[in-house]
Amino acid sequence: MSDNAKSPKTGHYSPALDLRKHPPGTMFCSFCGKPQYDVKKLIAGPGVFICNECVALCEKIMADTPDPNPAEIKNLDTLETPTVLGMIKGYNMAYIQVRDRMQEAVDILRKREVSWADIAAALGVSRQAAWERFS
Ligand SMILES: [Zn+2]
Repeated sequence: MSDNAKSPKTGHYSPALDLRKHPPGTMFCSFCGKPQYDVKKLIAGPGVFICNECVALCEKIMADTPDPNPAEIKNLDTLETPTVLGMIKGYNMAYIQVRDRMQEAVDILRKREVSWADIAAALGVSRQAAWERFS
C-alpha cells in the first residue's frame, strides 16, 4: 500500500484513490481493494480475486467462528437488505466477467470450426439455445 492511496481526510487506505494511479489490466483484491503489486499473492477465482492478507484474515475468522448452519446461509430472505444489496453487486460483477469470458471461449471454438451442436452439448443446452446466446 502506498501513502498517496491514503485518504487525506481520514488517513485510511482508500482503494478508490489507489485505482486512479494503476494502469488498465491491474488486478485488485476483491475484498480489500489492494492492487496486485502491493500484496505477496493474488489468487484468482471466477470473476474475483483475493490476496494473501485477506486469506489470512478469513482463516482467522473461520478459526474464531463456530460453523454456521448452511441452511441459514442459503436462505437469502433471512439476511439484512444492505447485505443482499452487497451480494447482488458482487454477483453482477462476477456474472459480467464470466459472461464475457464464455463469449470469448465460444468465439475461439467457432473460429476453430467447432459446431454449434458440440458447443451446445458441452453447455447442456439445445443447439438453437447455444446459437441464440453466443452468435
Ligand atoms: Zn485483500
